[in-house]
Amino acid sequence: MFIEQPPELFRKLYPSALWRMNPDEKAVYLTFDDGPIPVVTPWVLDLLDQHNIKATFFMVGDNIRKHPEEFRMVVERGHRIGNHTFNHIRGFSRRYFTSYSYLENTEEAHDFMLSICDPETTDKALHPLLFRPPHGHMGWAQYMLLKRKYKIVMWDLVTRDYSKKLRGPQVLANVMRYARNGSIITFHDSLKSWDSGNLQYALPRALNFLEEEGYAFKLL
Ligand SMILES: [Zn+2]
Repeated sequence: MFIEQPPELFRKLYPSALWRMNPDEKAVYLTFDDGPIPVVTPWVLDLLDQHNIKATFFMVGDNIRKHPEEFRMVVERGHRIGNHTFNHIRGFSRRYFTSYSYLENTEEAHDFMLSICDPETTDKALHPLLFRPPHGHMGWAQYMLLKRKYKIVMWDLVTRDYSKKLRGPQVLANVMRYARNGSIITFHDSLKSWDSGNLQYALPRALNFLEEEGYAFKLL
């Protein structure tokens, strides 16, 4: 519970970050972290297309560098891109604790995104500018600086699809238990989620469940 649905106290640490959208609206906001990754990201895109759903992808700059084709696919299919730093860095690590180097790593990812795609399309996919800190770790100074430029996006529900300790049915159960009006839901288009089979099991079933429950899918 503590992990899947962050408690109010934790949410207050970053008061202007987005955790949950309008609680009066029957809608959820799907997000995918840590891509783009060959095979995995295209599989997610095909599934979303089948359901006619748009989502937000918080991408790692270095993965975009390695897999620009998959990056372009996400952009061209009308999804939104968020920044997840260039190297998936930990905000609390000694190396990046100074706000400046953390910011630099984030800006490196931003500039890279702009450099490898048709500017007009990328521009649309990138706005509003969104940032999600890897691991949810962000020092106060980093937060204060980043929020000047980016909308900081946390989550209302993390499925824990990346966890080696969980199997697909447990990941699905997290969605069924914690999804609610306005939830920002986090999956991962990553090898961790894929190699365990968690993503392939839980995502299609979660989409069916959320549709049956009557949720609309909205973009951040
Ligand atoms: Zn991440």
